[in-house]
Amino acid sequence: MEILVAKSAGFCYGVKRAIKMAKDTIEKSKVNCFSLGPIIHNPIVVRDLEKEGLKVIENVRDIKKGTLVIRSHGISKDESEYLKKNPKISVVDTTCPFVTKSKKFLVRLIRGGYNIFFLGDKDHPEVKGLLSYINNRAVVFKDPDELEIKNYKKVGLISQTTQKIELLKKAVDRLLSSTEELRVFNTICKTTSIRQKEAVELAKKVDLMLVLGGKNSSNTKKLYEVCKSVLNKSFHIESPKEIDTRWLEGVKKVGITAGASTPKEHINDVIKFLRDNSTEENNG
Ligand code: SF4
Repeated sequence: MEILVAKSAGFCYGVKRAIKMAKDTIEKSKVNCFSLGPIIHNPIVVRDLEKEGLKVIENVRDIKKGTLVIRSHGISKDESEYLKKNPKISVVDTTCPFVTKSKKFLVRLIRGGYNIFFLGDKDHPEVKGLLSYINNRAVVFKDPDELEIKNYKKVGLISQTTQKIELLKKAVDRLLSSTEELRVFNTICKTTSIRQKEAVELAKKVDLMLVLGGKNSSNTKKLYEVCKSVLNKSFHIESPKEIDTRWLEGVKKVGITAGASTPKEHINDVIKFLRDNSTEENNG
């Protein structure tokens, strides 16, 4: 069996940076180290960090003192204000610079009097956090086909960093005819676009595609969707334990890609599993 791994599979820039900052914080602070929500969307990594001393809390008001690591998705305006008022909590902000950039664009649009359309998942922490800075004055949508289009003078279109570029293009198409002015910020991070493009190319070449990453990871889910759209035999897994060996029957080429929150070691575990369980010759 030949095993092909996408070049971009694994940690992205923002996640690498967040993990490094979290580990440095644990080393320095030792006790009373917290992260607001899981630091990345990968339960295995989060559990390992917890063992090292980074406790996950869900509400910023749950701590009175200590060090709080803010994850790469960022935090809401309310949370940020609470932290500013509490000098006993020191903050390590790992918000990805791409998310910070989205925030600036959003604020610029709202100040410019645009009706904001936001492509994304309204329950995702990144989206919730960003929208809090504009008092949720935006139409959040996942599917451009479901947009209720009225006539607008000024429309601002923006996206969650992990969305599919095709959906953003489709939204431009739908909104353009109903507005005098359409301002679009392509806030889909480059890592996401490159990863998705490579995943599609790889899925076209193989008989089985494995997409590795947290089930709660938005970018991994999107990767799985793009793979599934070109190869039916695509599966989203969190670890090799989920691989059903029947999937491997008659398979000559397997493709592997992984979400931005997946460490290289997890990819290696999948490769090892495939090699150990391959029935085909040529363990490439
Ligand atoms: S996927 Fe992009 S926006 Fe999200 S953390 Fe990684 S680099 Fe930053």
